[in-house]
Formats: sequence, C-alpha cells, structure tokens
Amino acid sequence: MSYIDVYIEHNSLQLNTTFTYVCKEPISVGCRVRVPFGALDLIGFVAAIDVQPRISTVKEVLEVIDKEPLLNDELMALAMTISRQYVCSVISVLKTMLPPALRPSSSKAKIIYEDWVVLNDPQVDLTPKQRAALESVMEQLPMKASVLRKRITLANPLLQKGALRLEQRVKTSQLDLESIPDTSFSLTSEQKNAIEQIEKGTKSVYLLHGVTGSGKTEVFLRLAEKVLTQGKQVLFLVPEIGLTPMMIQRVKARFQTKIAIYHSSLNAQEKYEQYLLVKNREASIVIGTRSSVFMPFCDLGLILMDEEHDASYKQDSMPRYHARDVILERAAFHHCKVVLSSATPSLDSYARAYKGVYALVELTHRIYLDMPRIHPLDLKQEKVEQGISARLWKAIEEALYRHEQVILLLNRRGYLPVVKCTQCNETFTCPDCGIALTYHKKEDVLMCHCCGRVFTFDHTCPHCHGHAFYHMGMGTEKLEETLKLRFPSANILRMDADSTRKKNAHAKILKEFHDQGDILVGTQMVAKGLDFERVTVVGILQADAALMRMDYQSAERAYAMLEQASGRCGRHEKEGHVYIQTFDPDHYVIKSVIDHDYISFFKKEMLYRHLGKYPPYVYLCTVIYMHKEETKAMQIAQDAKDHLSDLVVLGPISISMRQQKARVRLVVKGKDRSVLNQRIWDLVQYHLSKKTTVKQEINMYPLGLEE
Ligand code: ADP
Ligand code: ZN
Repeated sequence: MSYIDVYIEHNSLQLNTTFTYVCKEPISVGCRVRVPFGALDLIGFVAAIDVQPRISTVKEVLEVIDKEPLLNDELMALAMTISRQYVCSVISVLKTMLPPALRPSSSKAKIIYEDWVVLNDPQVDLTPKQRAALESVMEQLPMKASVLRKRITLANPLLQKGALRLEQRVKTSQLDLESIPDTSFSLTSEQKNAIEQIEKGTKSVYLLHGVTGSGKTEVFLRLAEKVLTQGKQVLFLVPEIGLTPMMIQRVKARFQTKIAIYHSSLNAQEKYEQYLLVKNREASIVIGTRSSVFMPFCDLGLILMDEEHDASYKQDSMPRYHARDVILERAAFHHCKVVLSSATPSLDSYARAYKGVYALVELTHRIYLDMPRIHPLDLKQEKVEQGISARLWKAIEEALYRHEQVILLLNRRGYLPVVKCTQCNETFTCPDCGIALTYHKKEDVLMCHCCGRVFTFDHTCPHCHGHAFYHMGMGTEKLEETLKLRFPSANILRMDADSTRKKNAHAKILKEFHDQGDILVGTQMVAKGLDFERVTVVGILQADAALMRMDYQSAERAYAMLEQASGRCGRHEKEGHVYIQTFDPDHYVIKSVIDHDYISFFKKEMLYRHLGKYPPYVYLCTVIYMHKEETKAMQIAQDAKDHLSDLVVLGPISISMRQQKARVRLVVKGKDRSVLNQRIWDLVQYHLSKKTTVKQEINMYPLGLEE
C-alpha cells in the first residue's frame, strides 16, 4: 500500500494541484488511475508515489488503469517543464502527449483490435498433415487470423491443439501513399560541407539555412541514414500535412525500414497504431507534424525540423507550446543533435545562430539553375484585368503554350471576400465575430473565416430586400473560375482549406497537378515545400495583404511567404519567373525578395525590432480577457496591468469578438525570460484569487499579435 499524488483535470481546480490517494496495488509514476473526486470519478495521472499524506482521510484509488507507466520519466519531466515554461497545467500537456485513444475522458476514441496468430508450442502432438501445414506457415508468423485461414485449411486444429495461439492486436490500416523510386545522386560540395559541419560539430543545435531548392532535404536524408544505421531513432518534423505526402514519399523511398507517420488528419485508431510503432520500437523513424514531438522515443539519435519558421509549429490552443522548444528539451535528454532548416529562418532562430548559440550551416546555391527572376508588378501602373495584370496574364499564357506549369497564390479562400448590398450598402457580418462573411459559390453559402460558422444565403438583403450585391475583391474560388473561363482547355486545380477538407485531399490534388495539371491556384498552402519540375511561373496576386497587417511580425511572415512562393519555380532544368503584384514595389520586404537576400532583410528587420522593443530582443506574453460585457473584461485587464506594474505592458485594447464574447488584450514584455515567466505565474494566482467570471487566457511567446 502506498500514498500517491495524482494530477486530475477539473474546471474548479487551480493549475497543477495534485491530490493524494491511497493505492493498494503496485503502481508507478506515469500510470493512469481512476479516482473518486467529490461525487465524480475521474481519470488522472500518477505524479508521485510514496508520498506523505497531507490529510488524515485519504480516499482510495478506484482502479489502476495501466500496469506499466504510460508515460516514462522523461515525458513526465518534460510535461512539467512545458507547464512551467508555458504557464499551463501539467495535465493539459500530459493529454497532448498521448494519442487521443489513451487520453483520459476521450471515450469516443475507441480502438479496434483484430485477431492475430502467433506461434505457441510447436512441440505439441500433431498429425503429419497438421505438422506440414504448420511448417508451411511457421516462417511467416505472426499473421492475421483471417490471412492464416485463407492460407491453410488446418488453422483451427492447430489452434485447438495449442501449436498456435490467438492474440489481439490493434488493427492496422495501411496509410497508403503511392511509392516513388528513390533518386540517389552524388552530393554537391555545399551539401557535403553542410553534412560534415553538422556531423563533426560540437554544438547541439544547427540552423541549416539554404535557399529554396538547394537540397536541404537531401542533407536531412543523409544525416538520418547514418543515425539509423547506428540503431538510433530519428524524428523528422514537417510543418503541415500539405507538405507531408511528398516528404513521406521521399523518406519512404530512401529507407527500407518501417516509418511511423503522425499528423492531425489521422483518426484516433491510426494515431494509436503509429504511436505503438514507436513505443514498441517497430519503427525507428517518425515523420510527423507538431504533436509528434511527444512520441515515446527511447533512443533518439537525431531531430530534424524542416521549415522551422513555420507558424504551425506553435499550438494555438492549450497547451500553447512551440515544437522547437520541446525538441530542444528532448535533444538535451537524449544527447542528440537538432537540425533546424529553412530558406527563410525565423528571426528568433537566425538571431541565435548569428550570436553563435546555434551553429549556422549554409547552402547558398540551388542544385540546378540560379534563383528565379522576380518581377514586381506595380499595381499603380499595370493594366489589370480581373485582378491579374496584363504581364502576368501573358506569362501564364506563354507558360501554358510551352506545356509548363503555373502556381498562383491568393491568400483568400472562397469566392467573394465581402458581400455588400448595392441598394443599402449593408454588409453581411458574422453575429458572433463581427467580421465580414465570405461568399462561397459552390456551396452557395456565406462563411465566417474566423469561427467557421456557415450561413445560408438566399441572395436577398435582410435589410432592404434588394437582390443585387457588389462583387468586391476575389477569393481563390473566383480566381479558379476566372482562369477556367480564360483557359478552357487547361487543367486548373485549387488548393485551399475548402478543397482539402477531405482526407488525403492534399495528396490527391498534388498528384493530379504533378501528373497533368497546368495551373495550381491556392492560398499560402501552395507556397510551401512543393517541388515540381515543370513549374516556371509563380504569381502572387496580393502581396500587400501580407505586408499591411499591423503587427511586429507581419514583415517576417510576408518575407517568408513571398520567398517561399518564389522558391516553387525554376527548381530544375527550366528557368523560373515570379510575378509579385503590389502597390508598394519599393517596400524593403519586396526588395529583399527581389534580390533573394535574407541577410539584408534580417538586418533591417532586427533594427525595427530593436527600436520597437520586440522579440527577439524581449520576450512576449499576451493575456486575453473574455466576457460578454466588454467593460467588465476591460476592468479586469486594467487591474492585471496595474498588478504587473514592474513590467512593460501594452493595452488593454479591445480585439475581435468570439462566440459573442468581447476579448480584451494585454501584451506583456519581459527582458528576462524567467522573470516574465514568474510574473505570469503570479498573475494566474492573482486572477484566480479574484474569483471573477471574466476568463483569462495566457499565450506565452506568441508568434505575432494577430488574431
Ligand atoms: P530544398 O529542400 O532545399 O528546397 P530539395 O532537397 O527539395 O531542396 O532539392 C531540390 C531538388 O534537387 C529536388 O528535386 C532534389 O531531388 C534535387 N537534388 C537534391 N540534391 C541533389 C544533388 N546532389 N544532385 C542532384 N539533384 C539533387
Ligand atoms: Zn464568426
């Protein structure tokens, strides 16, 4: 019998309080237990064993769910570190670490098992026929019971006599992806140097800064190869699932070993299967998105993070961790190296490399041709037809004529971004968010791109009953339609949040484009990672939309988006041309993109950050207060600001509404990471002590201030 401390999740609890229970069975830290809590019974995680009870009446554990710890010591300690860093509850991290099927309170995620046959006792007495049957399949065991029954008719007697035995295993589905042949080439001298610098280097973190198409992926694959032959595990992180199909194919083609694939569009069953592959060491390489940083590795030898600047590496709900911070912790534990790679590194990472905290490794040349030519199209002067300037129309037409491919980026999905009545000027807005609704033509609905709510649209103005609406602006759906009218025989594909909702939709669109596509239209998804040989023209229709967002991070994001989009063309034998439509061709971001000059962008941007006192010169935390009444939220926010009077605090300002609640924001700046952290923990306690109905939401180290 021992006393144990348990983390449980309940709204009424303060962050990270544990409760003591008595447990009569043997138990370890990291196991799940069912415990009584008031009138409820809840599932929690064992935080500590053999503790001293703080009270005399200690309740008993109802059920020990795991005999073996579900999370090992490394992961339990990691959860605490993340909780501390990000000012969130340990239990929220523990839950995030596990596939949904293993999370407490996710009853929906039922796991399907199937019967497998394993060898039990080959010595049992068998008839000669049975013996022959057994020998004919022995080599191939274990196998699915259904497969065995198809192979041999004597499966049942072999099972009954105990030569074979049934075992329940998690049903595995084939995560199908068309296989591609592996292309192996001799490395360029830059690639060789990069690999040597990383392998021989003494630093633990490497920033591989290589221009688009410089062969960074190949460097990753070679590094991984070595580590795998040493029998260690490799974690290969990719930002979004849109990139993953091509990357998985390349990794699969290279390594003849089992690969675990982990990302958000897998269902609970598939996630659990992939998780087990790692836990049981059946797969030594994991390729996945953000959440795969928590895979149960036991002997990690290398962590690779592709496109390290990508915002999807930070989770935007509790716990709001950044995958980069997590891998640094894991690498320290496993004594392995981390390689971050990007053509447009985050300012944070590049600043660290600049200072020598990370080792900087550079690839300055494309494998094949030079970097693409950038043509800024000044919208103040260009002749524009249906949102596309005459020069871009011509470039598209000529590329199609030469049987080359075109990628067009318009960072707005849907058909019309704003629907406005021509009679009374009424604009359709979301009642919850106060944001203009976007018209989606195919479904004939209005959609809020903030909360995702969909409204039916009867083409009548609710205000004046008029039937005519302004056609203002253009979304990807309309752009696709416009292009189809102009080039009726071209195969035009669209990739945005609407067209990729279905499973594997990304992979399908990309395959179709690869095989027989002419034009790919899309939101910034199309800027990322694609590698198609025949793409020679890239058009960015509204570069200014990215530049004008009012945020200290806008320029960094805009630079990455423009440079990455440009990087999609001219990657092989054919020269690439990029057309950037803008009202501000002299903007420093556009200028740096024209010259493909990251360093000049970096230096200029660092100057602005220094002047404005923004990251990487300071650490930020945003605190949002939510309430039905804006004045209440304002009041609490002002009070919090006064409480943090020793720090620089911006705000409170009222930002967008969400779900009919006003949102008021403070931005807290700290020169010292640990001081900021401590003060925010203190703010959490302070807020709880006020017992107010205003909700407080903490976001440590946000990526920008956009909503
Ligand atoms: P990046 O990740 O830097 O954008 P990739 O690794 O995708 O670049 O490489 C760009 C293209 O060049 C890919 O099609 C890749 O197969 C090819 N490639 C990479 N390294 C070599 C090499 N050493 N020789 C020939 N082709 C290469
Ligand atoms: Zn809304």
